[in-house]
Amino acid sequence: MTDQINNNSPRVRFAPSPTGRLHVGNARTALFNWLFVRHHQGTMVLRIEDTDMARSEEGYERIILNSLAWMGINWDEGPDKPGPYGPYRQSERLDIYPEFVNKLIESGRAYPCYCTEEELTIERKMQMARGVPPRYSGRCLHLTAKNRAALENEGRKPSIRFHCGTDQIKFHDLIKGDMYFDGSLLGDFIVVRSTGIPAYNFAVVIDDHLMNISHVIRGEDHVSNTPFQLLLYNFFGFTPPQFGHHSLLLGTDRTKLSKRHGATSVPQFEEDGFLAEALKNYLALLGGSFVLRQEIMTTEELVTHFTIDKAGRSAAVFDMG
Ligand code: GLU
Repeated sequence: MTDQINNNSPRVRFAPSPTGRLHVGNARTALFNWLFVRHHQGTMVLRIEDTDMARSEEGYERIILNSLAWMGINWDEGPDKPGPYGPYRQSERLDIYPEFVNKLIESGRAYPCYCTEEELTIERKMQMARGVPPRYSGRCLHLTAKNRAALENEGRKPSIRFHCGTDQIKFHDLIKGDMYFDGSLLGDFIVVRSTGIPAYNFAVVIDDHLMNISHVIRGEDHVSNTPFQLLLYNFFGFTPPQFGHHSLLLGTDRTKLSKRHGATSVPQFEEDGFLAEALKNYLALLGGSFVLRQEIMTTEELVTHFTIDKAGRSAAVFDMG
């Protein structure tokens, strides 16, 4: 698979949101990024995605950094390791985004949306009742300047939405293979919230581009975000990174791993007396992520034998108890 890696010195990022303690599923994402980048002698970036001000807490950032360090997952650039692509906290990058938002608006590809949370919830509920997948109807796409002025007079603050269009979007996923999406089914998405804070799908593209990220390795819960992100790459004329979406951890009943399955956060395992090395080994090998079928591998062996195409390809039942 190494021949698929078209970059001699890849740059990857692990981009946690500091909204809680590090979940073992996210630790596995961090680990795959780390194994990949150490295998290819690239650069690991740690980016803190803390634009969700209501849910982010500074204390969690420190706890996440400690958990990664405990597991021996180190990074080369990050909030505590200044580098040429900083700052590495999204909340400190807020002055970077407006230039790109303006480009979207000036081109007419993005437009103000005045729908309130309540209106959108009702729209979604009605779609679901009709048995259609919920997505934004495009209600504000064709508002006239007069309509907009009237809505602003009501005191509504707009969010900014990107118009998806009808193109087919395809990409080759390093783990899942070829992926296709129909643009006309996507629904125009928010790039800037009504609070002025950039939304995830937008900020992540600007940051990954400006930080020169070559490979985005993340959980498959983000696959549905990738077509939106690719539309933005395409609009701006940025070369997209290569994407690899790995399977998620499941509980023993094969539903998504959550608290009701027992310990799910890295600090919890640490408190319960597990060895970091054991957790790392377990997370790395789970679901047949390596060709080598050894039960225990040293960190060095993990780095040597890591190939991205195998990483988290199959469903992985997490049962450390
Ligand atoms: N902050 C996002 C998360 O924690 C990162 C997603 C991504 O890797 O693009 O889910």
